[in-house]
Amino acid sequence: MLSVEEALLRIAALEVGVSTERVGLSSAGGRVLAQAVALDRDQPGFDRSTMDGYAVCLDGDAGSFEVVATVVAGSLFEGSLSPGQAVRIMTGAPCPRGVTVVPIELTDGGEATVTVTEPAALQPGRNIAWRGEDGHAGDVILEPGTRLGPAALAAAAMAGAESLDVYTLPRVAVITTGDEVGKDGPAGIRDSNGPMLTAFLSGLGLAHTRRHAPDDEGRLEQLLAEGRDRADVVVTVGGVSMGTRDLVPETAAALGFETVLHKVAVQPGKPIFIARNEDGKLFIGLPGNPVSVLVTAHLFLLPALARFWGDTTPPWSTQRLATDWKHTGRRHLFLPAALGDDGVTPVAWNGSGDLLAAAAADGLLDLPVGSDLSAGDRVRFLPFAGHVAGQRAQLPPRGVAGAPC
Ligand code: AMP
Ligand code: MG
Repeated sequence: MLSVEEALLRIAALEVGVSTERVGLSSAGGRVLAQAVALDRDQPGFDRSTMDGYAVCLDGDAGSFEVVATVVAGSLFEGSLSPGQAVRIMTGAPCPRGVTVVPIELTDGGEATVTVTEPAALQPGRNIAWRGEDGHAGDVILEPGTRLGPAALAAAAMAGAESLDVYTLPRVAVITTGDEVGKDGPAGIRDSNGPMLTAFLSGLGLAHTRRHAPDDEGRLEQLLAEGRDRADVVVTVGGVSMGTRDLVPETAAALGFETVLHKVAVQPGKPIFIARNEDGKLFIGLPGNPVSVLVTAHLFLLPALARFWGDTTPPWSTQRLATDWKHTGRRHLFLPAALGDDGVTPVAWNGSGDLLAAAAADGLLDLPVGSDLSAGDRVRFLPFAGHVAGQRAQLPPRGVAGAPC
């Protein structure tokens, strides 16, 4: 069976219809850059006062200066200062040449003449942000592939960008499957995967539609065809395993999708199915168990979607393990785990249907086959999308209500 690494390589090699568009800065938050951004001028663009006070032209040890002008932010002192002269200056204003800025608190605040009350302040070049000290015209500050968070966008604005080339986001059709899903009565189950996936996609800023297909060939094919025609990526949930009603892979094939992979040696999530059609549209068939969906969405769906913005790898982080852990299973395990001050602790869970345990986790601990780890070892961890430290569900006390068969 395909290993996780091989599956990720196949996903990284997927050819999809990548395109870019130009958007204004105010619409670019969260998008992924398709261009480099360089500074169009030195930063700061002029020698800038970082204090409200006096820009004084030093004259030996003399502590009093003649105040010849006031410079506020946005204005310029055109003249030059002689030793013993000063301008009153505000934070953000350009400094005249050859001055040091003395904060107003270290002076008597005089209008025609100012006296510096703290002699130590009379050192050259104090409290000035020098032209070019942060960066120079032409310096590249953002590379293609950067996701534009608030700081990166602010930097692009500072660099003079008014609009940016970003990758066009893929449209996604989410189709859950299963006669039992959403059904009332003792054999029905609630749809937890639908809300999980729509939250996952919303977090990535992706527009998506949402449908549910019963386990019926005709209706399933109709909904999958609709998804294929309207979206760039069809994401299904359930119906990819070995059951008699697991109809998704054959229906996808009937609609022109060619299998890229089906079944990976991963736990949970083994039945994962990925296909592609000749138009470069993707079909991602996730298994139905909710923890499988969580794992395969982070491990495989995210890198597959990221092909549309030229990215490939899941957003791993490195953490320390809080406890000894041995993985004796035969498949690469991704275990729901909580992040604490002393590191990562796996959450006790009842298998891939145990969503409550997964909701009490912060992400997934990566445990390759044969992992035999000690507390303090460095491990790979995949934080849940949009993860916020300390924000997780409560793990209920465990007990069995039913009797074993
Ligand atoms: P399947 O892959 O279709 O065999 O489904 C595997 C398990 O996941 C079954 O127990 C399903 O009832 C469950 N399941 C499938 N879809 C959903 C869903 N949307 N929400 C919650 N559980 C689901
Ligand atoms: Mg099913």
